[in-house]
Amino acid sequence: MDSRTLYLRLLQYVRPYWRIFAASLLATAVLAATEPALAALLKPLLDGSFVDKDPTMIRLMPLLLLAVFALRGISGFISAVALNWVANKVVMDLRGLMFDRLLNLPTRFYDNHPTGVVLSKVTYNVNQVTDAATKVLVVLVRDSIIILGLLGWMLYLSWQLSLIALVLAPLVALAVKLISGRLRRLNRGLQQSMGDMAHNLEEIINGHKVVKLFGGQPPEARRFNRVNNWVRRYTMKQVVTSETNVPIIQMLAVIGLAVMIYFAALQSASDEITIGGFVSFFGAMALLLAPLKRLTSINTPLQRGLAAAESVFALVDEEPEADTGSRSLARVEGRVEFRDVSFSYEADGRRALEGITLAIEPGENVALVGMSGSGKSTLVQLLPRFYHPDTGAILIDGVDIRELRLADLRRHIALVSQDVVLFNDSVRGNIAYGAMDGADEAAVIRAAEAAHAMEFIRAMPEGLDTLVGDNGVRLSGGQRQRVAIARAILKDAPILILDEATSALDTQSERYIQQALEVLKQGRTTITIAHRLSTIEKADRIVVLDGGRIAETGTHAELLGRGGIYSRLHRLQFTRPEPAADAAEAPDQP
Ligand code: ADP
Ligand code: MG
Repeated sequence: MDSRTLYLRLLQYVRPYWRIFAASLLATAVLAATEPALAALLKPLLDGSFVDKDPTMIRLMPLLLLAVFALRGISGFISAVALNWVANKVVMDLRGLMFDRLLNLPTRFYDNHPTGVVLSKVTYNVNQVTDAATKVLVVLVRDSIIILGLLGWMLYLSWQLSLIALVLAPLVALAVKLISGRLRRLNRGLQQSMGDMAHNLEEIINGHKVVKLFGGQPPEARRFNRVNNWVRRYTMKQVVTSETNVPIIQMLAVIGLAVMIYFAALQSASDEITIGGFVSFFGAMALLLAPLKRLTSINTPLQRGLAAAESVFALVDEEPEADTGSRSLARVEGRVEFRDVSFSYEADGRRALEGITLAIEPGENVALVGMSGSGKSTLVQLLPRFYHPDTGAILIDGVDIRELRLADLRRHIALVSQDVVLFNDSVRGNIAYGAMDGADEAAVIRAAEAAHAMEFIRAMPEGLDTLVGDNGVRLSGGQRQRVAIARAILKDAPILILDEATSALDTQSERYIQQALEVLKQGRTTITIAHRLSTIEKADRIVVLDGGRIAETGTHAELLGRGGIYSRLHRLQFTRPEPAADAAEAPDQP
């Protein structure tokens, strides 16, 4: 996007507040007008009060000065407060827009964008945007008025001298143009590096235990040092660029000033200019320097703001999850059908699923089995449309899920995934999460009982009201899983998906929960991904995935008899302590 389009788009966000913004600009204009007035006052002050010694002038001038400064004070206050009010409204609106978008982005977006980068867009970049949208505009308005007023006054005093000043303007403009492009590039780099830094920080904060255990400090420190240095380098490049800006322009101005002083001296020798006029002219010139300097350095916040705006708009414009369906199913029986579904995570990447055809009857309990990476989680994530199949279709009760509204589709599905997500809220808030907020106490307790979570919840100091901490750090892995299961139980959806939902539990608790889940599975369609084969022996059907394809299906007994992958997996798990989790409980195995 070019600067103009970006800027116009930014102004759109200011538009709802145009009244206050206009008030601020008006106050700014008044403030600006007092500046040439000060220069203009100098002429009557000197010529009237001191040269002519006019008594009215002598009394009037101090009062006028007071009046001008009072006006400056009031208009300056209104201008700044009104402006900040608008700026902060725009920040709030943009943050709101980004957050809304974040709530509705496809899972793929989160796969491709590091958390830190997105975080810094919402928290850091957006503030710079408003600098561009509001403050820059005010500088433009204020300083243009000041400059025009001063120039007008100078022309009135002596057009010859003014002409010399005007010759400089295009030179200054050229210098500004050259430097602005570079500043914007540097800013983009800086923002990227800030994002990388946040990302790096987040990883070592969340993963600090892994870092410590695996001696990850040196590489992490090296990685951080690299981005840290990049941030410094970009900042320094910016400083150097914007600081060369200033002396170049001041040099141009000073050359002109020298020439003018020479001509002014000639003019006053021929009585073409009074003493008051001479002082007033150079007073105006001196006053001109500050707004000129501001106008020329406006580019830094402007380009920074535009670079930030670009990144903010990129997020705002991010395509939300496709939610084109219009149908809603009031009651779902729970027939789930995959028709020749293929899927790959990357556009031309390896297929994670290939030609999956599978029909699950209402109330049927299907278990998915396969080596890690065989596509089990991927398959169940397609059902709530976290991802979309590349080819083929998925149907619920004979209706293609693409025809359903996303919210309606997801209402019918409860999913407990292998990575439990808990919010920094009470246990109750985590069980009765989202749309279930406000579920009655008895129901929450029933769900917690069924998930065998109530025992440990009761043992906690504040019971259901205990806060679980950031992603549930105050709970053990097994406890977190039980809270997640309670959440799914409370949702009471006709389709239940358990993706290694009991993997973090000890054998004892798992057995309890298995019993609870058996009850829960009654009358619901369930897809269970099990990491321990012992837990799915009673499934109505077992589907074995291998490399994204369905390798075999059948009951436990049928598959054992067939001597294929399932029987091999089974043998591995029951004769040898294979993966670590299973090794711990090997003595429990029959
Ligand atoms: P399982 O649950 O059976 O262990 P998954 O369904 O999680 O396996 O993964 C299947 C394949 O898809 C794996 O090869 C894995 O590397 C890949 N995969 C999983 N999630 C993603 C993702 N978000 N982006 C890219 N590839 C992924
Ligand atoms: Mg998995």
